[in-house]
Amino acid sequence: MSDLAYRRILLKLSGEALMGSEDYGIDPKVIHRLAAEVVEAQQAGVEIAVVIGGGNIFRGAGLAAGGMDRVTGDHMGMLATVINALAMQDAVEKLGAKARVMSAIKINDVCEDFIRRRAIRHLEKGRIVIFAAGTGSPFFTTDSGAALRAIEISADLLLKATKVDGVYDKDPKKYPDATRFESLTYEETIRRNLQVMDTTAFALARDSDLPLRIFDMDEPGTLLKIIKGAPIGTLVHN
Ligand code: UDP
Repeated sequence: MSDLAYRRILLKLSGEALMGSEDYGIDPKVIHRLAAEVVEAQQAGVEIAVVIGGGNIFRGAGLAAGGMDRVTGDHMGMLATVINALAMQDAVEKLGAKARVMSAIKINDVCEDFIRRRAIRHLEKGRIVIFAAGTGSPFFTTDSGAALRAIEISADLLLKATKVDGVYDKDPKKYPDATRFESLTYEETIRRNLQVMDTTAFALARDSDLPLRIFDMDEPGTLLKIIKGAPIGTLVHN
């Protein structure tokens, strides 16, 4: 019998998670380690899809603040996520697992287009599916892309890896007495005005009854522990 708590999960990694100690781009050691975590989880038997942000390269809002047209900036941000997704695909395949990048914007000389049924088929065949280009539309974020894809593929859990090990009642960097929640309802999160994901992503997940776990992936083996049911980080649910 499987000792896994989940059948299919979607992991959201921010672009910044790939930088390591650099302030831009991709640290090969870091992406290798993250890929190893993902492969370990997949080999344990969970179907796993990944969404990667692009903040380590470009963010549309940042480019717009510098004077660029926002939509062009967002296109650049989405292309940045494709670059990260290709790097993750390579890192996963170097570890002997199979991966497919599927993009929300058509760029099919370098990766597949997102086709929902095909994505599910890849997952069923044990391939790690990396969704690139977020939702494919400007003015969204990869958090929204992650929530959307998680719902589309009927994931049991959306995992958001962050630099903080969960959701706190106040900023733990400013307040040493901040306390971490083990679990929260979506309603409580709104009532307490806690920021766990951007509003669009949050609303999508809540309305589709998709549980969300916020956690820190720095400790090796964390992803595997979570898919085996360990209550690491904070669970947000209805
Ligand atoms: N983006 C977009 N639509 C989407 C997802 C992303 O336009 O559906 C653009 C947007 O400019 C965003 C950038 O891609 O700033 C990178 O994504 P995000 O900021 O979510 O990356 P992260 O913060 O997770 O690294």
